[in-house]
Parts: sequence; structure tokens; C-alpha cells
Amino acid sequence: MRILISNDDGYLAPGINALAEALAPIADIVVVAPDSNRSGASNSLSLDRPLSVQRAANGFYFVNGTPTDCVHVALTGMLDYKPDLVVSGINNGPNMGDDTLYSGTVAAATEGYLFGIPAIAFSQGAHGWEHIEDAARHARDIIQRYYETLPAPYLLNVNIPNRPYDQLTAPVATRLGRRHQAEPVIRAQDPRGKEIFWIGPPGATKDAGEGTDFFACAQGRTSITPLQIDLTHKTQLDALAKALA
Ligand code: MN
Repeated sequence: MRILISNDDGYLAPGINALAEALAPIADIVVVAPDSNRSGASNSLSLDRPLSVQRAANGFYFVNGTPTDCVHVALTGMLDYKPDLVVSGINNGPNMGDDTLYSGTVAAATEGYLFGIPAIAFSQGAHGWEHIEDAARHARDIIQRYYETLPAPYLLNVNIPNRPYDQLTAPVATRLGRRHQAEPVIRAQDPRGKEIFWIGPPGATKDAGEGTDFFACAQGRTSITPLQIDLTHKTQLDALAKALA
């Protein structure tokens, strides 16, 4: 099996190192990841400048671009083969509910999925990298167990609790929860006295009931949500068609 690995925390992040180390014994891996932390990059492509790919001492490739740039460049020019699987992560912190729209981790996997390749985004339930090697081993288990059982291509969003390996149990299938609207921006002044804004934290959970990714992770379970890309609001489509008729 040939696996393309990317992330949004950058090629030096502990999460992508742990994931690559866990997957190297079971697959031919290639790592193509951003040169810096691009968390929150969503599905952005860099169209205003060229991209360069460089190879680090450990064999990882790093790109001066977004997670989507990395996977796009790998699939459309850099690799001379089509990978069997694209994986992204392991992200530093959760990607649940509305996070999936902003997440560069999910976006890297999405780019693979859009090219018809099965793709999995992995995140840890909490920030800080605690038990990251356990999470990577657990991610490998998930790939080995489920890679061929789902109809391809699929796009899975996986959140793994920060727990020791022997406390990571079988994953549970979930739907995305929802968050309240994000917290306000944080106002500050730059050194010249000009007002600046830092994007604030995401909102608290709003729909974290049973069956959601939030609920599963709160119970200490690994959550797997199958995602789709079609944003069409199918019920409103009929109403709109009638209104426009
Ligand atoms: Mn990130």
C-alpha cells in the first residue's frame, strides 16, 4: 500500500512524525506537508505565487503553501503514481463539528478524496500532544482494519482521545456535532499603537448529544465521521425552485 501523508501543523509537528513512524512499517509512505503551521487554512489553494517543494533530512517534503497545496502538488505533478490512501494529521487538538469547515487537517484529506482516493483525517481530542505515539499506533490499527471494508472513495474524520494505547477502544461511528458561534476576536495594540485583532477561540459545543463526535470523545471513545463534500441544501432546493418558478 502506498500512503500520502500531510497535515496542517507543519512538517516538523510531532503529530505527523508519529503518524509517519507508525505507518512506515505497513506501507510505502511519502510525507508532503506545509513548511509552517497552517491550521485553519481550510481548503485554500495558493494561486498568487509559485510553490516550492524541498526535501528535509528525514525524507519529508515540505512546501511553502497550505495543506491543500501540498496534496494537490503531490497528486498532480510531484508523484508519478496515485497513492492508495491519503492521510492527514495527527492534528494538535480536536476537529469536530463546525471545526471541519475551517480545518486544514480535514482539507488535506479532502483534497485526496476529490481526486478519488480514500482519505482519512486524524486529530487528537485535546491539544498538547499527550500520548501522540499511542494515537499514531491506534490510527494505524484503524487503517489496517477498515481501509478495505468501506466503499471507496471515502472521507473519514477521526478524533482520537489523548489516552494510552491500551485505553483506546474500538471506534464509534458518529455524525458531526455543532458549536455555538465563535468567541469574539481579541483586541490588542501593535508596538506602534495600532489596533490589531486576533481571531478568538471556537464556540462552545451546542449539539454534543448522543451520536455526535463531541459525545463520543467526551466518553473517551475514538470518533469516526464519514464526510461528504456536496453542500447543496437539498430540502431548500425544492422550495427555492418553487419560489423561482
Ligand atoms: Mn492544526
